[in-house]
Amino acid sequence: MAARIIDGKVIASELRARVADEVARVQRVHGVTPGLAVVLVGSDPASQVYVRSKHKQTQAAGMASFEHVLPADVEQIELLALIGKLNRDPGVHGILVQLPLPKSLDTEAVINAIDPAKDVDGLHPNNAGRLAGGFAALSPCTPLGCIILTKSVHASLEGLNAIVIGRSNLVGRPLVQLLLNENATVTIAHSRSRDLAQLCARADLVYGAVGRPEMVRADWIKPGATVIDVGINRLPGPDGKDRLVGDVAFAEVSEVAGAITPVPGGVGQMTVACLLVNTLRAACAIHGLAKPAV
Ligand code: NDP
Repeated sequence: MAARIIDGKVIASELRARVADEVARVQRVHGVTPGLAVVLVGSDPASQVYVRSKHKQTQAAGMASFEHVLPADVEQIELLALIGKLNRDPGVHGILVQLPLPKSLDTEAVINAIDPAKDVDGLHPNNAGRLAGGFAALSPCTPLGCIILTKSVHASLEGLNAIVIGRSNLVGRPLVQLLLNENATVTIAHSRSRDLAQLCARADLVYGAVGRPEMVRADWIKPGATVIDVGINRLPGPDGKDRLVGDVAFAEVSEVAGAITPVPGGVGQMTVACLLVNTLRAACAIHGLAKPAV
């Protein structure tokens, strides 16, 4: 039987609508307008597309959106000075530095300079450490989106066997921590793992976060499992234009899985929606308000 398709577009749009409602309430009741500042260094076309989409969606949710575009040859000290200014700006509750940065800049130092209370990408070591310790933290947006998509299929993840393939700081590691917080039993796999097919065979939840086109095959998947595909890979299409494929061989895996996210139209849709959630949460925490209902 063909798997149920988890529609990231619909789920992200519902989430954005709930964020917009909460933003309106926080404004009305507390006079606080959450604000997100996005810093883009250089003119990488893919990064420009992401930043434009973040700007549009932030404004559509009723939040303030601030864009800072710096030249690719900006000095580290100037970038750090801008981050310092945004850290002190009371109208800014979330700061996101679009990655990757040009090689001339020290990405780790830049991330470390962001006030952890405004670190809506969840990459600052304070947030990563708090998440790993099971404490309240701002978590990276893509893994948050993966959890929401999974919960659209499973009301509870308690006791489910999950495998996360990939252990980056951006996706795999924080996803493992979020799954643990949901009381799933988690295996984390990476490039040195042996026999991935066998590791996947027990999993009720499979997360592909590798960056290798269609690596996860149908015969790895337990019948009925939920498969969440984080991968975004560009392959040349028949018309000469790039086509996007995930880390999961969608056509064959959807014959075995119980539910699956498509690429595009799955996890990718959730990342910016979760950025809005994090900005709203950060604004509420900074102003000492109750955690918002999203
Ligand atoms: P990274 O390159 O940082 O990490 C990839 C991970 O995959 C590493 O942990 C690596 O292992 C592991 N890996 C590589 N080859 C294998 C293999 N053969 N078997 C098992 N594991 C392997 O990538 P990201 O985490 O940043 O991104 C992963 C994918 O998700 C990419 O396609 C990216 O484009 C996509 N992405 C999508 C987002 C979205 O919004 N949908 C957001 C962010 C990323 P090791 O640690 O041993 O090297």
